[in-house]
Amino acid sequence: MAESLKRGQEYNPSLETSHAGSQPNKRMRTSGVTDGSDRNGISSPPSKSKSKAYHEDGNLVIVAGDVAFKVHRGLLTGRSNIFRDMFVVGSQLSCGETFDGCPVVRVSESEEYMAIFLKCLYGYMWPHPLHDEKPFRIALKCSHKYQVYTLRRQFLDKLSENYPTDLATFDEMNNVPQPLGLNKAFTRLLPVIFEVEALWLAPAGLYNLFLVEDKLEIDQLPGNILLKFYRVSALLSTEFPKFIQNAVVREYRYHACCNGKWSDMHSEIATDLLEPEIIACMSPLLLPLFLETLPITKKLCQRCFTELEESIKEYRNDMWSKLPKLFDIGESWEELLKLKESQDES
Ligand SMILES: [Zn+2]
Repeated sequence: MAESLKRGQEYNPSLETSHAGSQPNKRMRTSGVTDGSDRNGISSPPSKSKSKAYHEDGNLVIVAGDVAFKVHRGLLTGRSNIFRDMFVVGSQLSCGETFDGCPVVRVSESEEYMAIFLKCLYGYMWPHPLHDEKPFRIALKCSHKYQVYTLRRQFLDKLSENYPTDLATFDEMNNVPQPLGLNKAFTRLLPVIFEVEALWLAPAGLYNLFLVEDKLEIDQLPGNILLKFYRVSALLSTEFPKFIQNAVVREYRYHACCNGKWSDMHSEIATDLLEPEIIACMSPLLLPLFLETLPITKKLCQRCFTELEESIKEYRNDMWSKLPKLFDIGESWEELLKLKESQDES
């Protein structure tokens, strides 16, 4: 079968865009292109883009909205399967329309989208997910839709710095003070993560919502994402009290060495950390770490303290490993990382 695929590729240049189910969708291939006519079938003449993406020496014109971008056909077809299909295979060049001496292709993106995307494609700009969140979102969306895999991968790699797939990296991130506005930017990037099918970034992205102070920001998210978050948030709210029940209450029954201290600890936690409001507004993965910092905990003997540390570690590892499934994104982290691998190969 691999053999036939290989052979197929030699004479069917569009095969690469259609054989992988997990790849960015090919549905966009046709919907991304317009026929360049208004309802009366008459095209309105475009105006030149004032951006750097209008190249006087270009040999093809892309029209987005009513703005023209003069580009280099070879560069675009070399980097994007969709452009290649549009310009070469399907020849979607708008029936004979020309502008500034070049054939015209009309696309459905707005002028703003196309300007940002082309500038990224040419390497004129490199938006940062936090500082230029909107251009970053646009560029990532377009690189997915137009199947510019190298660009898409670079953007996603940049995102992975803040959307960890393992607990150790998550902890490292939370140990350093995060720049102001980070959570806001990452909340707004969340829908794009789903849109471009970068699902391995989604559990940490959804988890980040626990750390967002401005709940109004969360409410702006699409309903399906909100539902995932609030469902898990409700599920996890009982996990910490259960953990306290297991790790603390049970311990003080069995360890004679620190008997009184375990029970003091429990009453202190019960008044401080088990309040529903506190549990509701704190990150379920960070909450158990506070236990280690309580003065009462530090009074435990070494053996008891180590045991508590071990239970906390086990509890957090377990919760982290369950995140993909809890958020209903995949069966496990392994499955999501395999998806990443398969996308990286394209
Ligand atoms: Zn002890």
